[in-house]
Amino acid sequence: MSDDQHDHQVVPSDPALRTKALESLLVEKGLVDPAALDAIVDTYENKIGPRNGARVVARAWVDPDYKERLLRDAGPAIAELGYSGAQGEHMVVVENTGKVHNLVVCTLCSCYPWAVLGLPPVWYKSAPYRSRAVIDPRGVLHELGTELGEDVEIRVWDSTAEIRYLVLPERPSGTGNMTEEELAALVTRDSMIGVAKVAAFDGTKA
Ligand code: FE
Repeated sequence: MSDDQHDHQVVPSDPALRTKALESLLVEKGLVDPAALDAIVDTYENKIGPRNGARVVARAWVDPDYKERLLRDAGPAIAELGYSGAQGEHMVVVENTGKVHNLVVCTLCSCYPWAVLGLPPVWYKSAPYRSRAVIDPRGVLHELGTELGEDVEIRVWDSTAEIRYLVLPERPSGTGNMTEEELAALVTRDSMIGVAKVAAFDGTKA
């Protein structure tokens, strides 16, 4: 991957700049509260955006044929559920197993599979995560509370403007009777970036 292939100008596109200009104007005129806007952005980062990816993961968990299509050629499989990127980036889904744990980073900026995960979290764009995820992925995972056995291989995937990665986390035990919708509700954003696992079903849900 060379720098010229890694186009940092792709994400802050014309609509993004117009949105920023609009936000500045609305705040200046006292028409919106910046804190309220932050809350809305937080919602897209943590709730609405990642729900698309969660539905993709849940479908893969319950439908082996879908999972096979997803791992072979993710773009069309994700599009089957109605999600697609507008920038033509190639989607790759990597599967976590008992032996392999996948972690996604963008070492140069903040390339992110936004069609399925929404907006990237602040830490994903931070210099420490971008550098240390590659140098010491096991240490980064440990600090984030994710412990992996020494026998588990960690694979780090460096996103670019052309290729965006989504982690297919392991389906937790105890979820055999859950519906696809219930399974999707378990899947977190962080598990699809690869910095967390999907927590085992805790039995508190009806
Ligand atoms: Fe990037």
